Amino acid sequence: MTRFVVAGAGLAAARACATLRRKGFDGELVVLGAEHHAPYDRPPLSKAVLRGDRDDAPLPFDVDTLGVRFRAGVTATGLNVAERVVRTDDGDEPFDGLLLATGAEPVRLPGSGEQLTVRTLDDAYTLRSRLRPGARVVVIGASWIGAEVATAALAAGCRVTCLEAGPAPLSAALGGEVGALFTPWWSDVDLRLDTKVASVDPGGVQLADGAVVTADVVVTGVGVRPATGWLAGSGLEIGNGVHVDEYLRTSAPGVFAVGDLAARWSPRLGARLRVEHWDEAGAAATVAAQVLLACAAGTPEADLPVHDPVPYFWSDQFGRKIQHVGRHGPADRAEVDTSDTARPAVRWYSPDGGLTAWLGVDRVKELVPARKQIADTLVALS
Ligand code: FAD
Repeated sequence: MTRFVVAGAGLAAARACATLRRKGFDGELVVLGAEHHAPYDRPPLSKAVLRGDRDDAPLPFDVDTLGVRFRAGVTATGLNVAERVVRTDDGDEPFDGLLLATGAEPVRLPGSGEQLTVRTLDDAYTLRSRLRPGARVVVIGASWIGAEVATAALAAGCRVTCLEAGPAPLSAALGGEVGALFTPWWSDVDLRLDTKVASVDPGGVQLADGAVVTADVVVTGVGVRPATGWLAGSGLEIGNGVHVDEYLRTSAPGVFAVGDLAARWSPRLGARLRVEHWDEAGAAATVAAQVLLACAAGTPEADLPVHDPVPYFWSDQFGRKIQHVGRHGPADRAEVDTSDTARPAVRWYSPDGGLTAWLGVDRVKELVPARKQIADTLVALS
C-alpha cells in the first residue's frame, strides 16, 4: 500500500491519519476537505463557539508532523472503484487505499426563507453573529442540536420559540415519555409541541395548519443525512449511509467508510447502525486505519480488529449534561428514575430483562458501570 486517500476532513480523517502514522504507515497520505479549515471538532460549535466562549476547536492535525498532503477546499465529486480514483473538483486522486469520511449534511425544509443550520464552523460563526439581544429566534426541532441552539440563544438574550413536531423535546430519539422529562428545562422558551412546519419563508415560518410564526432568525435542527451524494454511480452498497462490515470495509476492496457517513454492521446487535456521534467517528477511524494496515500485511480476517462498541453520546443543554449509552429498541421498557428530580436517569430493559441502554443527567460517574452492564447484556443477546 503506497497511496492512501481520505475523502472528508473531519474528526474521522484526523484520527485515521494519526493512527496510520503511529502504526508505521510510511506511504503517501492525501486528505481532501471541502471546507477551507483544517479538521476541527464539531461538538463545541453548538456549545462554546455559539456562546462566544471560544472561536475554534482544532483537532490534532499537524500536516508536517503527519506528512499529510491536505487539500483544503477540494471536494470529492465521484469515485471510480475499478480505476481506483477519486474524482474531485480539482482533478483526480488515484489511490491504493481509500477512507470515505465525508460525514453528514443537515436536512433542510421547503421554502425560500433563510434557514440557518449548525454543521460547520462557518455555520456557527454566522448564527453567532445573529444571536443578538431581543432577536426573535425560531428553532425548528427540539432535538439535540435544537436544544443546544436554544440554550445559546437564551444566553444571548434572544426571544426563542421552538417548533417541535413530536409530543416532547428529544422525542424522536428517546420517545415521548422520556422526552417529557425535559419539557420543564424549556420554560424560558416558547416551546410548541405537536407543531409541524410546512415551509420557511422570508420573515418567518409557515406551519402545517396555515399559521405563521414571524422570526428574525430561523434555525433548522431536524436531523442530518449521510453525505453520500458524491458516491452515486460508484457501485458501493449504500442505504442509510455507506454499508460497511464490522471491519469498516465497504463492498469495494481497499475502500473503508466511517463516522456519520457509514452504516456499519454490528455483530453485537445483529443490526446495521449509523451512529452520528463523536465517540463513534473517532473510534471507527482508528480501527479502520488498523484494519487497512493489517490487510496490507496479509493478516487473516479472523485476526482483524473489529469495530463494534456500545454506542455513546452526550449533549450539554440548559446547563445540564445528558449522557446516553447503549441502544434501545421499540420492544424495550423504559424505567424512569426521578428520585433525584434535578438528575433524572432512565434505564431501558429488553423483554428478557437485560439493560440495553442508559441515560443520565449530570450522572457522569454512573456512565462507565452502565456501559459495562449494557455490553454484558448485548453479548448475552447476540
Ligand atoms: P464530519 O465531522 O462531518 O467531517 C466530514 C468532513 O468532510 C467535513 O469537514 C465536510 O466538510 C467534509 N466533506 C463533506 N463532503 C465532502 C466531499 N464531497 N469532499 C471533501 N470533503 C467533504 N456528538 C456527540 O457525541 N456529542 C455532541 O455533543 C455532539 N455535538 C455536535 C454538535 C454539532 C454542531 C455537530 C454538527 C455535531 C455534533 N456531534 C456530537 C456529532 C459529531 O461531531 C459527529 O458525529 C462527528 O463530527 C462525525 O465525524 P465525521 O468525521 O464522520 O464527519
